[in-house]
Amino acid sequence: MAVLWLDEISADDLETVGGKGASLGELTGAGLPVPPGYVVTAGTYRRFIENAGIDEELFELVEVDVEDSSALAAAADGAQQLILETPFPAELREEILEAYRSIGTGEAFVAVRSSATAEDLPDASFAGQQETFLNVTEDDLLNRVRECWASLFTQRAIYYRQEQGFDHSVVNIAVVVQQMVDAERSGVMFTSHPSTGDPTMIIEAAWGLGEAVVSGAVSPDNYVISRSDRSVETTVADKKVMHCRDEDTGETVERPVSEEKRTERVLSDEALGRLVDLGEQVEEHYGGPQDVEWAMIGDEVYMLQSRPITTIDTGFDPEASSLEEMAANEASVTDGSGAATASETKQGSVLVSGLGSSPGLASGAARIIRKLDELDKVGTGDIIVTEMTTPDMVPAMKRAAGIVTDEGGMTSHAAIVSRELGVPAVVGTQNASTVLEDGQLITLDGDKGTVLEGKTETDDEREPLEEVRPQAPVKPMTATEVKVNVSIPEAANRAAATGADGVGLLRIEHMILSLGQTPARFIEENGEDAYVSELIDGVRTVADEFYPRPVRVRTLDAPTDEFRELEGGANEPLEHNPMLGYRGIRRSLDRPDVFAYELEAFARLFDMGYDNLEIMLPLVNDAEDVYRAKRELEKAGIDPGKRKWGVMIETPASALCVEEMAEAGIDFASFGTNDLTQYTLAVDRNNENVADRFDELHPAVLRLIADVIETCREHDVATSICGQAGSKPEMAQFLVNEGVSSISANIDAVRDVQHEVKRVEQKLLLDSVR
Ligand code: PEP
Ligand code: MG
Repeated sequence: MAVLWLDEISADDLETVGGKGASLGELTGAGLPVPPGYVVTAGTYRRFIENAGIDEELFELVEVDVEDSSALAAAADGAQQLILETPFPAELREEILEAYRSIGTGEAFVAVRSSATAEDLPDASFAGQQETFLNVTEDDLLNRVRECWASLFTQRAIYYRQEQGFDHSVVNIAVVVQQMVDAERSGVMFTSHPSTGDPTMIIEAAWGLGEAVVSGAVSPDNYVISRSDRSVETTVADKKVMHCRDEDTGETVERPVSEEKRTERVLSDEALGRLVDLGEQVEEHYGGPQDVEWAMIGDEVYMLQSRPITTIDTGFDPEASSLEEMAANEASVTDGSGAATASETKQGSVLVSGLGSSPGLASGAARIIRKLDELDKVGTGDIIVTEMTTPDMVPAMKRAAGIVTDEGGMTSHAAIVSRELGVPAVVGTQNASTVLEDGQLITLDGDKGTVLEGKTETDDEREPLEEVRPQAPVKPMTATEVKVNVSIPEAANRAAATGADGVGLLRIEHMILSLGQTPARFIEENGEDAYVSELIDGVRTVADEFYPRPVRVRTLDAPTDEFRELEGGANEPLEHNPMLGYRGIRRSLDRPDVFAYELEAFARLFDMGYDNLEIMLPLVNDAEDVYRAKRELEKAGIDPGKRKWGVMIETPASALCVEEMAEAGIDFASFGTNDLTQYTLAVDRNNENVADRFDELHPAVLRLIADVIETCREHDVATSICGQAGSKPEMAQFLVNEGVSSISANIDAVRDVQHEVKRVEQKLLLDSVR
């Protein structure tokens, strides 16, 4: 049997039908109004991968170091593809489709949801981990089922399983196929208060399909109902949008809500009464507080899902296995006992208010986040203020002291995750991200749902959450400096936020290419001063961000084919092989008049006090290149004896001639492994036909690097890497063992490299005392 109908299932079938399936089966069995449907069992998924012979390959694929983001991405892609490309056996296909055809009449629209056998368990829930497809019809049903299976192997799912200690091969996945309820109204219901466990029901409701509420796309109405006297506290939200089924395509679409319905109450007292009755019935059935998704067509109520509320803590749990759990316990114990709340404290005025979705007080600087790439500005102890959170924000949410969102209700991503992390949160404020100012000091009260002006001193000392929670990501102290590469000044802020020890490579060609004109044309049209100013502005943005940490700026190194794309580029020489051509220091020495403007920018920046800048020369071959460049520095008024300057080691010639270059007075040599590999192995770095031969860890490349490090150490010249390979742990390991002075990595790899460097350094230390 590949499928089980909901009325054949009970809570004991968890292993077979997963958390969602078991819950729906159980609710159906309890006589609650659940739309009809069936579950493609976990065993079916298991047989599918085993019979196709892809199981072992699948589990091997996902056995990766999940902290290595590129390895994790490759594992997820590989595993998902494997599942998606494996065909259904005919019999299985028929059984799933036949069950589908007996739901409802005609071509039914069904919801297809994954139901993992470890997801939805108390204490293991994590929002946004598996797939849901709405309004599915026969044509795409099978593909959707397979996509649900594949969703077991998203990057996030792999990461969390590893973090939570679940063995990949024992987690299975079932798929619920259930008739869609074309809801006019829907929402969620907590049968007890999700933070405190108080006997109050919280119901959230919006127009249309419930996805809008769960995903946080809309701020729903909020009804707090006392279970003792059924009194209701109503907050009607401005429901700007609704999700509904497009009549033509059958797809779920977001539509604006009509002017009059936006602020109309979604649930009448009568409808609320019906929901409360159902809520009590569910809670009684399960013997504990539930988090229920419901929908209504006319007066008919449907229950779409019910799960135990995972975040009510009854007290400190000595078994709490992680620091985060302990933090969550800590928060609720303190709050549960009625210790410091904002009302007992000196407080500023209320700036915005919403729903208290995760308890506790938090003060800090507001960080307004509009785009994902701004997340790095959230430092430990800051308060994230955003329209709504997404799973990608989780790392930032971990280090934040608090979270405030414009949209979303008690089950939105922000609410669920903040509770699980133990970070106080206020959601659904409607306008926090426009009313609050970035950097403004605010206090949020996650119990009352208010955001106050200024920092609030609590009467009662409470251990700050950020000290209880792991301070992730933690920057390890390393003897080898770990720096960061920057190509666009806009990334300076993110780069600095990595905690890197400086910038190992700032490429100025991006500043120039972004002008859209060749330097010659730009100067012709705008004058020399404008050109110099552009360079100064770009470099300064980065230099400021890192000051006093060193920033190594490389002089222009763009190949002629890139210049040809720009206005004025028609005059560029047409080169047979631009990689071996007129680029880097060759071009600068050939046109000292243009090079002079770059050097003038440096001279002016030094005069402005940017003594953290260092000059790096690209594509040098030998001491002659170095001496000639040095003379140009002097001509520009830059004292090479006073300022730090050096070269990139990008050609075998430069590696072999490094001793003479050291004697010419360079302060540092930095491995540009992109070019060093290309020139050592005679493999064009841009040619995909030989991409498999492009190996920065090739023994020949490593031998050149090792020799240069040794020579440089003898001459007191610092060594570094700023090619792509510096972001690879294996390269970091090799370089630290060889005694490199610093490693410069990509922004996203800095933290991993820091840890790798630390590990290798510790091992070296241990080996030396053993
Ligand atoms: C390199 O060659 O490794 C390097 C960092 O320079 P680019 O990538 O700009 O050639
Ligand atoms: Mg290079």
